Order: sequence, then C-alpha cells, then structure tokens
Amino acid sequence: MVYATMPGNSSKLNPETLVAQGMGRVALPYRDIVPPIYVSTTYERAADGTYPGGRSYSRADNPSYDQAEALVASLESAAAAMLFASGQAAAAAVFQSLAPGDAVLAPRNMYWGLRKWLLEYAAPWGLAIEFYDNASIDDLAAKARSRRPRLIWIETPANPTWEITDIAAASTIAREVGAIAAVDSTVATPLLTRPLELGAGIAMHSATKYLNGHSDVVAGVLATARDDERWKRIRYVRGSGGSILGPLEAWLLLRGMRTLHLRVGAACANASAIAQRFDGHSALSHVLYPGLKTHAGHEVAARQMRGGFGGMLSLRVKRGEEAAKSFTAKLRVFKQATSLGSVESLAEHRASAEGPGTMCPPDLVRLSIGVEHVDDLIADIEQALE
Ligand code: PLP
Repeated sequence: MVYATMPGNSSKLNPETLVAQGMGRVALPYRDIVPPIYVSTTYERAADGTYPGGRSYSRADNPSYDQAEALVASLESAAAAMLFASGQAAAAAVFQSLAPGDAVLAPRNMYWGLRKWLLEYAAPWGLAIEFYDNASIDDLAAKARSRRPRLIWIETPANPTWEITDIAAASTIAREVGAIAAVDSTVATPLLTRPLELGAGIAMHSATKYLNGHSDVVAGVLATARDDERWKRIRYVRGSGGSILGPLEAWLLLRGMRTLHLRVGAACANASAIAQRFDGHSALSHVLYPGLKTHAGHEVAARQMRGGFGGMLSLRVKRGEEAAKSFTAKLRVFKQATSLGSVESLAEHRASAEGPGTMCPPDLVRLSIGVEHVDDLIADIEQALE
C-alpha cells in the first residue's frame, strides 16, 4: 500500500494515539482515513515474471493485514507481527515451528483448548510436553533445568484461575537453558503487559478477545522480538498450513483495536470495583483477581501489568457446583456465554464448558467484565447470589 502520511517515528507516540488512529496511516490516492479491504486472492506478474506489487497469492499474505500487524508490532515493541485465523492457530503455529522430539514446558493451568490440543495433537505428533505450576517460578526453573525445553509457554493471567507468572524471571530461565519464552498475553492485552520488553521471544493474543473486542471476529496474532529463522518458520507454517485471516476480518480487527485503550480501561476499572465489592462475600469462598492484594500473584502482577489488572475475574461459590451453576443462570445483565474481552459482560460455569479432563474447580464461575455501568453489574451479581 502507498501511504501519504504516517508518523515519522511512531515509536515516539503513546499507545493510545497509535491505537486510536490505527497507526495513523493515510492511503493514496484517496487519502483514506480508514484503509481499504483487499479482496484479491492473486496478483499480476510483470513480463519478466517478477511481482512488482510484492505480493503473489493471498494465502501467503494480504495487504489488509498490514496496518493491524504494524499496530500490534508497535504496541508490543516487536520486530514484526503476524495475523492468524484464530488464537488457537497462532499458538499452534509456535508449537508447529518446533521439531518432533523437542521438549516443551507449558503451564498446568492454561486456556483449556490449547492444553487439550497439546495433549491430543502436539504430544502424539512428537513434542515432549511437561506442565509446570504457573504460580511457582521455582517449579518452572527446576523443570527447565532438567528437561532443557526448546520452548517455555507462559499464560499470564492464566485462564480461568488467573495465576500470574513472572515473565521476566521465566524469560531469564528460558535464556539460561537455550529456550524461547512465548507468552499468551490475551488477557493482559499489549496495553497492560509487554512480554517482549520483559525478555520473552514471542507474545501471542487471541485477537478474538480484547484486541477486536466486539464478539464478532475470530482471529489470532503473534508478535516477535526478532525477525529470525524461527519467525520465518512460523510464517511458513501459516502460509503452507493456510491458517490465514480473511481480509474483512482483518479490517474489522483494526477497527476494533481503535478503541482498545478505552475498552480495556473501562473493563479494568469495572473488574477492580467488582472484585473489591465481592471479596469476602458470605456466599463466596474466593474472588480470583490479580488486582486484589490477597491474590498470590499480586506483587508480580503489580510489577508487570501497567495501568490495571485486566477485566477477567472468577468467583468460587461456597455451596459448590450446583450453586455455582444456579448463580450463573440467575444473572440477567451478564449473558451466560463463553469467550471474553468484549464490550458486553459474560459469565460462564467454566468446568461444564471445558468438559471431561477440566482442571477448573467445579464451583468456579468465570466473569468477563465489559464496559457497562458498574452499578448494573454489581446489582446483577448481588441478586444472583441471594
Ligand atoms: N488464549 C486464551 C487465553 C483464550 O481465552 C483463548 C480462547 O478463549 C484462546 C487463547 C484461543 O483463542 P481463539 O478462540 O481465538 O482461537
């Protein structure tokens, strides 16, 4: 794409400005404030067989990705970013860039869909997967030193119990054993945590969640500290495996990202107020939220999350599984649905959503806090707990 204007040095601008302006690029010849959607799947070659436009076929790349990828790369202080068809596809591409026989460390509590894929697909394919206790950097260090993994996967805060892993410490351990640290930073968003600045090699997001933020696009993105051989291999995995995002979805994602700072700020403020309000409630055994001083990972979270502790929290209901399910069913403002990171608040009895093999406590209800008026959310939780 040809641009009429773009910030000379976008790294000098604040993230809020980059986000609001979708990188501030204006395309020629019409000087569009909003970029066009490129639907062509194929591109013309010159008489000498070259591709003067720099593109050949849309399974390899699509100009509709450019601005969204540039924005994520800029927010993450990354050398480059790459969009995928989903968060799962983005995460899977990192594991698929390894070779059969490679060892991998992954957190015991993590997004269940990826955990399931690791056990049911990646392990039979040949990766040697060991799980570490995400709340214990000592356990991670001991397993890294004994297993010498190629990759240490981190998810922080970890869905749905929100343990915090110290990214800087884990990245130091990764370097020590010759591994790369890759962080699923979906819940933190690039506004609250920058894994690459803390020493990680790759940051991953389910862009379906906060980045897009409107429950209307499934997408994923990776950001890399280095444009190296691993990154080339990941690009090969995307292009050859074909786990690519459609141009319309890429456009919608960029549109969603333009309000990321407003949505994340509002969700953090609401989640924090709700966590404070219900911490110690007589019907609850735990309120799991990294912003609470009583949370085991609070100190590390306060160090590596800037400007808020995220919009996700979980409630554990004292009277057990059935009471947790009936609490969820009684909510009226919160919608009972899976997923997270959108403008509307969602509640889910997580163990029944995950099914057999779940690591989630049966009395846990996961809340994705949206941007509604916090009084309405609090009143809804109160009436459902009665
Ligand atoms: N990582 C986290 C933390 C998630 O919550 C999810 C989905 O819920 C994913 C990854 C997978 O993302 P997607 O649904 O976009 O494939």
